[in-house]
Amino acid sequence: MTGEKAVVGVHYEAGYERHDTGRGHPESAVRYRVLREALTGLAPEIVRLPGRVAMVEEILLAHEAHYHDLVYRDVEDFADVLRTGDTAISIESYEVAREATGAVLEAADAVMRGEVRRAFCAVRPPGHHATADRGMGFCIFNHVAIAANYLRTQHGLGRVAIVDWDVHHGNGTEDIFVEDAEVLYLSLHESGSYPGSGGAGDRGRGTGIGATVNLPLSRGSCGEIALAAWDETAGPALDRFQPEFVLVSAGFDARQGDPLGGLHWDDETFVRLTRRVVALAEKHAAGRVVSVLEGGYDPTGLASAAMAHVRAMR
Ligand SMILES: [Zn+2]
Repeated sequence: MTGEKAVVGVHYEAGYERHDTGRGHPESAVRYRVLREALTGLAPEIVRLPGRVAMVEEILLAHEAHYHDLVYRDVEDFADVLRTGDTAISIESYEVAREATGAVLEAADAVMRGEVRRAFCAVRPPGHHATADRGMGFCIFNHVAIAANYLRTQHGLGRVAIVDWDVHHGNGTEDIFVEDAEVLYLSLHESGSYPGSGGAGDRGRGTGIGATVNLPLSRGSCGEIALAAWDETAGPALDRFQPEFVLVSAGFDARQGDPLGGLHWDDETFVRLTRRVVALAEKHAAGRVVSVLEGGYDPTGLASAAMAHVRAMR
């Protein structure tokens, strides 16, 4: 802790457990509950941040209106799965997804107002696979993409970096900003894993060339490999970009033992990546970081890695 304001804010809420993905689904309410109960134990060290429901206009900062309406209708029609892809839904999923986005925007506001320096938002459903017009991969609305555009439109920021270390490539986030030079999307992910995108040669399109950085990692590789890729490529690219705000798509499914991931990171890997992100933000972005939960499907491993991440944000 520094002598000034609280450094780290954390948002979590039992309400996210209303998003019911069905029996045996890896992105489960149980997974979330284990994480939430662990985060509760952090109370003396952090500030707990409130949430809110994102306005429809805010959802439309990164999504097509017809896709927003489709989500609303599919939920109202009691569909089990979003018709655009592999995202299980239940009767409260539309509302919960809007709450998840709203919490991330609220955290961005808290950081911009200087109430906290950094924040971690434990929300669900996750977001980074959702494109402007398609939900997939357990995702409905792309919270991080919406937040990047919110920071630009509501807070007048110029350059926002998105660091995505979920084991899966964030195809949705890349797609939304693929032609955008002012949002740098950087992904460390398992090569060849779902959804199959994120090749090292994919560097953006048109005016956005160079503002997409993909670092696919070999299946079975350990955290040292990821950290070396960071130091060799990610760190210098982010340094050149000079972001005014850093968003993190913080999946913890690259952790050893995750049922959906094939990498072998440990908690220390997440600590060291977090410290690199914090150092980058301190150098260019007045320390401003908002980190958002994406994947992580071994409940105990998720809780352990996320706690290590939050503690390293101080
Ligand atoms: Zn993932």
